[in-house]
Amino acid sequence: MRKPFIAGNWKMFKTSKEAAAFADEFKKLYEASDVQVAICAPYTQLETLVKAFRGTGIRVGAQNMHFEESGAFTGEISADMLTEIGIDYCIIGHSERRQYFGETDETVNKKLHKAFEHDILPILCVGEVLAQRDAGEALDVVALQVKKAFSGLTAGQAEKVTVAYEPVWAIGTGRTATPEQADEMCGHIRRTIAELYSEELAENVVIQYGGSVKPANASELMNMYEIDGALVGGASLKPEDFIQIINF
Ligand code: 13P
Repeated sequence: MRKPFIAGNWKMFKTSKEAAAFADEFKKLYEASDVQVAICAPYTQLETLVKAFRGTGIRVGAQNMHFEESGAFTGEISADMLTEIGIDYCIIGHSERRQYFGETDETVNKKLHKAFEHDILPILCVGEVLAQRDAGEALDVVALQVKKAFSGLTAGQAEKVTVAYEPVWAIGTGRTATPEQADEMCGHIRRTIAELYSEELAENVVIQYGGSVKPANASELMNMYEIDGALVGGASLKPEDFIQIINF
C-alpha cells in the first residue's frame, strides 16, 4: 500500500527568517495524517526547518547534493553535510538543474547511489519538454530518464526512490498536465520500473506529479490511481495554500 507523499520545493525562495515564520504558521495549521509531508528548502534554511519541525512528523529535504564524498568542488554540498543536520530527503535531477546547471542522466544516477550510501531518500525528477511532448516522444523520453537514473540500484534501493513526474512545460507556467496525462505518464513510469525489477516492487514505488499543483487542482490529481503525491513549487511557499494541498 503506497502512502501519499506531498513535498514542497521552495527553489530559491525565502530567507531563514522567512522560513522560521513559515514553520510557525504551518505548524498551527498542520495535523498529522497518513499523508507524508516534506519541505525541500535552500541549504541555509535546512537547519532552521529541522529544528522547527522536530516531533511533528514533517520531514525536511534538500534540493541538490554532490555525488562525491568530499573534495575540491567549490560551492557544492555533500551527503554527509546533509545527514549531519538531520535531512531525510534530497531532490535529485530537477529539470531546472538539468536545464541551467548541466545535470545529466549520468550525474543523476551517481547522486542516487551516493544518496543511498548515506540513507538520504531521493526524490528523482523526470519529465519531458514541450517539443518532446508535441513530437509524441514524451513516454520514451521519460522511460529512458528512469532507466538511466535507476541504473545499478538494488531492488531494496529502487523501492525507496520517490519518482516525481514533472513535465517541464507545466512547471511555473500555470499550465497543469491534465489528470489523465499525468496519470498516463505515472503509470508508464511504474511499468518501466516493473520491467527493470518486478511488478510487486513497482507497485510499492511512490510516484508524484509536479507542475503547477495548487489547492484548486490537488484533489483531482491525487485521486488518479497512479499518482501518489505531489511535488509542489510556488504553492508550497504559503502555509495556507500548502496545507490545503496536503488536505486534498
Ligand atoms: P510549480 O509548482 O511552481 O509549477 O513548480 C513545480 C516544481 O518544479 C516542483 O519541483
